[in-house]
Order: sequence, then C-alpha cells, then structure tokens
Amino acid sequence: MKHNRNYKNQEHSPEHITLKEAFSLNCRAFFLLRERCPGLWLSTLLSSVVRSVTPYIGIWISARLLNELAGARDPETLRNLALAALLSTALLTLINSILSRYKNYCGAPFWNQVQKTYRDKMLDLDFQSMDDQETHELFSRIMQQQQWNGWGLTKMRGHLENPIHCLTGITGAAALTVSLFTLPVPSSAGALTLLNHPLTVSGTALLLTAVTVLAPLCHAKADGAIAAQSSLHMAGNRIFSYYGLVAVSERTRAMDIRMYNQQEIFRHRLRQGVKFGIPGGDLARAAAGRIGLLHALGSALSMLFTGIIYLFTCLKAWAGAFGVGSVTQYVGSITALSQNISTLLQTAGEMRSNAVFLRTTFAFLDIPNTMYQGSLTTEKRSDRKYRIEFKDVSFRYPGSDTYALRHVNLKFQIGRKLAIVGQNGSGKTTFIKLLCRLYDPTEGQILLNSIDIRKYRYEDYMSVFSVVFQDFQLLALPLGQNIAVSRDYNQLLVRECLEKAGFSERLSTMEKELDTSLYRDLDPDGVEISGGEAQKLAIARALYKKAPFIILDEPTAALDPVAEMEIYQQFDQITGDKTAVYISHRLSSCRFCDEIAVFDGGRLVQIGSHDELLDDRNGKYSQLWNAQAQYYRQ
Ligand code: ADP
Repeated sequence: MKHNRNYKNQEHSPEHITLKEAFSLNCRAFFLLRERCPGLWLSTLLSSVVRSVTPYIGIWISARLLNELAGARDPETLRNLALAALLSTALLTLINSILSRYKNYCGAPFWNQVQKTYRDKMLDLDFQSMDDQETHELFSRIMQQQQWNGWGLTKMRGHLENPIHCLTGITGAAALTVSLFTLPVPSSAGALTLLNHPLTVSGTALLLTAVTVLAPLCHAKADGAIAAQSSLHMAGNRIFSYYGLVAVSERTRAMDIRMYNQQEIFRHRLRQGVKFGIPGGDLARAAAGRIGLLHALGSALSMLFTGIIYLFTCLKAWAGAFGVGSVTQYVGSITALSQNISTLLQTAGEMRSNAVFLRTTFAFLDIPNTMYQGSLTTEKRSDRKYRIEFKDVSFRYPGSDTYALRHVNLKFQIGRKLAIVGQNGSGKTTFIKLLCRLYDPTEGQILLNSIDIRKYRYEDYMSVFSVVFQDFQLLALPLGQNIAVSRDYNQLLVRECLEKAGFSERLSTMEKELDTSLYRDLDPDGVEISGGEAQKLAIARALYKKAPFIILDEPTAALDPVAEMEIYQQFDQITGDKTAVYISHRLSSCRFCDEIAVFDGGRLVQIGSHDELLDDRNGKYSQLWNAQAQYYRQ
C-alpha cells in the first residue's frame, strides 16, 4: 500500500506549498464539505451578504441625518430620514436574525460531519491499511493539528464565511468611500486646497493601501510561525496524547500505574517531552518573541491607518469639501473597507497555511481500498463444500523486509478439524489473517473453489468465516446484540450459542438476561465480565454467524482448566459440520484435531495426525511435544 508521502517531512509552514496547490487543496476541501453539509454554504452566503451590507445602510442614513441637522434642518426631511433609519434597522435586524438562525441550523452538524469524515474512513479502511503504522501516524497528525489550532477541515468554515463577508463588505464600503477622494475642497480654503492636488489624493490612497496590506501580512506571518510550531512539537504532541490523555485514563492500566508507582514516570515524561504550552516553554517564548512582535506590529499599523484617515477626512471637512455628517460616513466606511481588506488578506494567508494541513488530511482520506475490487459472489452452498487452498503463499508485512510466511502450501479438508501449532512468532496468526483476507499474499495465491479469493466480493468472502481472534473485542452493548452483532436477533439461537460456548450458567445469574449491558462505559448497570467469560461470549458470537469455516485462535487461553476441558469436550458439538481451524501453542489441546499443521519460522514444516507427527522423532512437532511434556511430568 502506498500513501501520499508528500505530507511527510514537510515543515508546516506556508512557504512549503505552492499557491496553485494551496488553491486546489482548499477547493477540494470546500467541495467535500459542501457535500457533507448541504445548505451550509448557501445559508452562509445569504447571511454574510446581508450582515455585511447592514452597517453601510446605517452609516449612509446617519450621515444624511447629521448633514441635514448641521445644514438646512428641514423637519420633513429629518422625519423621513429618521423613519428610514428606523425601518431599515428593524427590517435588516429581522432578516439578519432569520438568516443567522438558518445558518446556525445548517452549520450545527459541521463539526460532527468533519469528525464523521475521518471516522467513516477509519471504519472502511482495508485491514492492512488500518494495521499500518503510517496510517496511524497520519491520523494522529490530523487529530493533533485539529486540537492545535483547529487546522485542517475544521478551519474551512471560517474560510468560507470570511471571504464572502469581506467581499460584500468591500463593495459596500468602496461605494461609500469614493466621494471622499473625489469631492474637492473649495478654492476659498487657501492652503488646504492642497488636499485637491492629485499627488495628495493618490499619496493618501497609497499610504492607506500600504498600511491595509501590511497589517494582515504581519498577522499572516505570525500565523505561519504558529503553524510551523505544530510540526516542531509533533513528538511532544504525541507524548502529551499518550501520557497526558490516553494512558492516564485507561482503566486497564490503572492497576499497573498504582502497583508499580508509575505516576512519577508519567509526570517526568510529560515534563521532558512536552515543551509547549508550559510557562517559559517554546510557545510562550515564541509568543514573547517573533510571533508577538508580528502581531503587535500588525495592530500598530491598524492604529496608524485610523490616525491617517481621521486626519485626512477632518481636514477636508474643515476645508468645506463636505458636511460634518459625512465625516462619520467616510471614517466609518473607509475603516470598514480597510478592515475587510485586511481580514480578506489575513484569511487568504491562513488558507495558505491551512493548505499544508489539508494535504495531510487528504493523504489520509486518499488511502486506497484495494481489498474491495473483486466482484464474484461466493456460491451459497448448503453442503458447506468450500474448498480452500494455499498455493505457494509467501507474505511480508507492509514496510517489513522479512517474510512472516514463506512458500506455504496447504489444502483444507472440508468438515475436518485442522490445528495450527508452532512457537510464538512462527506465523500462525499471519496464516489466519491471510486466510480471512485481512491481508493479501505478497506472492502465491489462496483459492476458494479453485478461484483466487481476490476475485470474490470482499463481504461475500468474509461471510465464509467465523473467527475468534486471540485479542477479540466485545462492545459496550447488550449481551444479545453482542452475540448477534445486530439489534434484531433470534433469541433462541443466541441462547443456543451461549449454551454451546458454556455461558448458560452465568446467563442465568443475569437479571436482564440477554438485555444485560456489557461493561459500564455506556450503562451504569452494565456488568464487567472476566477474561474467560468474555472468551466464551466471543465463541458464542462466532457460532451465531453460522459460517462454514470456524477459526479459533488460542480460544481457551483465558479459561481455567475446567472451562477449557468443557470447551474441548464440546468441541465437536461447537464446530458441527464446519471446517474448523484451531490455533494453539499448547500441543496437548490439539490432539483431538484430525490434522495438525506445524509452523516454524514462517514455514509449514510438517502436517499430519498427532500420532504420525510424533512418530517423526526428529520433527519439530516431536521436539515441541517433548519440551512441553517436561512441564506436565514435573
Ligand atoms: P504467531 O501467531 O505464530 O505467534 P505471528 O503470525 O503473529 O506469529 O507473527 C509472525 C511474524 O510476523 C513475527 O516475526 C512477527 O513479529 C511478525 N509480525 C506479526 N504481525 C506483524 C505486523 N503487524 N507487522 C510486522 N510484522 C508483524
């Protein structure tokens, strides 16, 4: 599997991304979110347009009102203007409030939809991608950048809203501002007629533009510097996530922490590893240094802008270019114009910074699914005659140089019980993972009824197997639903499976029986079950699936000897006419199987019945058997 490794080894700073790539990543994110949150963009557009136009209407009417008050003071004009101010304010407030509610309604699921995008991807990943460390690194980067400053998809909401708001704001403000520069000072104003000179006009306009552009540039630089901190602190983020959030709150770890006095290790690792967000830490120093300086400079330039505009407007009004009332209009509109341009430029800078994070996001979302390409349906055979064969299968885990399995050839005998034995690390679990198509072979083929299993529809092929993995997981759900893996289930069948798995006695002690919640994560009345009980439930779940193949990976590891005996005695009943595969490193528990396959160093070294294998005194099986028998004899 190949990830887009472009996201790696890149500083999270805007300099590392071209404008073109930044633009296309932002567009992609925009279309993705438009699909996930329909209505949000339209509501944002409408609400932003009305919200940004509103103040200018107020500014324009107030200016007319003040001019009239300072000039002719005609009662009818004053009344009409006051009425217009009142009505327009009331109407716009009403429209604004309706649109804002509409926008909030459409935007409420935004956060959840972004998380759902990641969640759905995780759930649908091929197992081998899910199992890959690189995938986990990508995912944890995305989560960290989101926590860091909302970088990634979450930033997109503001990035849509701000430009619309700013662009409409700029149009309105520009319309009200033009006359500030075009209205001339009367020639009677003496030296102040200099304000009419094209050089004064263009010089002022240029100065204002420069300040308007420089201020957001400073803020964008500061944002870029903050974004760059994120990759510098990736290791610290991880330590924080692990020691500060995950490990510290895991119930299963709580006992170890206390018994081995691990609290001090936790605190030490956090102190050493997490250099940001602490007093005197990197972030504090950066804020006091370059980042702080850039932000301060940006704010100072904004103040300078206000100073220039007040000076220019007041001088022109004093010289008689327009009435006093217009001063409020010009100061208000040109300040709004500048703020809108600043915010627009700042948002553009932030969008460029964010593009680097979007690259990571899409590297994750673009991980391909290779498992789902088959289209053949598996035959639904009532005789359960599913013939599976491994043909010269070799396998290397992604990113690993060594083979976990080498040249494995094996045919499963329909309806028979096969045991897979071998020392730890000999390849037993890997063999099962390939059989269940959690991974595809690196070389060779696995055939189902003589057809390569890659040609079957993935879900169809998976339905052929029931598996109890060694590290199976049950869910915080009612017992019956756990067994059936569905909300609607056949109660009788669930009870039958629980009985076969040896859980009936425990079930009878449960007041709510099949409706008893497992674990207390979601239900305070839930029950905590022991490892052995959980294993029985996992076996019952595998039985309920009624698949023609049943695979049990160390199914009795967590059971006490009595429960283990019971399972063995019932093994025939449990597996019925299914083809059963049974993995164990305890050889004594495999004797009841028809055939035993012995793995050693990734190779299938022997296959035969228990007696046949023991006869080969130099064989691996005999060696393992004798080594284990020693312990029983002592
Ligand atoms: P067994 O089940 O017999 O104990 P496994 O099939 O789990 O053995 O492992 C076989 C070999 O593959 C071992 O060397 C193990 O370290 C390696 N291995 C297992 N899982 C992975 C993995 N996800 N990535 C890389 N190597 C792995």
